[in-house]
Amino acid sequence: MADKEIKISVKNLKKCYGDLEVLKDISTDVTKGEVVCVIGPSGSGKSTFLRCLNRLETVTAGSIVVDGNNITDKHININKVRENIGMVFQHFNLFNNLNILDNLTLAPVQLKKCSKAEAEERAKKMLAKVGLEDKASSFPSQLSGGQKQRVAIARALCMEPDIMLFDEPTSALDPEMVGEVLQVMKDLAADGMTMVIVTHEMGFAREVADRVIFMDGGYIIEEGTPSEVLLNPKEARTIDFLNKVL
Ligand code: ADP
Ligand code: MG
Repeated sequence: MADKEIKISVKNLKKCYGDLEVLKDISTDVTKGEVVCVIGPSGSGKSTFLRCLNRLETVTAGSIVVDGNNITDKHININKVRENIGMVFQHFNLFNNLNILDNLTLAPVQLKKCSKAEAEERAKKMLAKVGLEDKASSFPSQLSGGQKQRVAIARALCMEPDIMLFDEPTSALDPEMVGEVLQVMKDLAADGMTMVIVTHEMGFAREVADRVIFMDGGYIIEEGTPSEVLLNPKEARTIDFLNKVL
């Protein structure tokens, strides 16, 4: 079998905040179309890891190569790299003073990715993809949490990224809205999107992930297929964590 194209290559990544070493030695590769779920206890470094992948954090040591660009190199045009990496956060981060259509067209137009007309056409297509074509002229305050998060995903997709990063996208939602957001993510995975997802949704990880990474204390303790890590964990810390959350 031919080697799969590597989209993200992380080698010996370390991240410190002052004296606090948050990521101690992280190495892993993500291949094209792969869906990687990152799990682990609070404070284990999951968000920091994700934020390093598009240089929302400067790394202390090690390297991160995205599509052949070493993003830890200060001279690289990070904005160009970021255009290809969509990110979705726990708290949506929509622009509350803009309607949904304007939320979706702002970045593509400002970054001159396309004309206003093209941006609107794509925005409508992406809204349809997340099942919200009728909300183009609504404002964020008029939407439920699940709808806001689907808008946030559509907004990221309007930049036509080829990697999507999700940091606990369903953790702030009422339980009845979790399913609709996970469904949109499942559809994206089925379309072949490369995705790194920090999540506490073990059922989703089991069903959708190609690989599960368990982090604790700034290290990858164990990684493998969902059945390896979630059903047959080898490490005591993984077993302990799963006993608490499952
Ligand atoms: P997780 O997402 O797994 O809960 P985080 O990556 O958010 O973990 O945090 C890992 C550790 O880094 C925690 O101890 C947290 O307090 C610390 N940390 C995160 N961000 C900062 C920051 N900006 N400054 C100082 N410490 C931070
Ligand atoms: Mg976090």
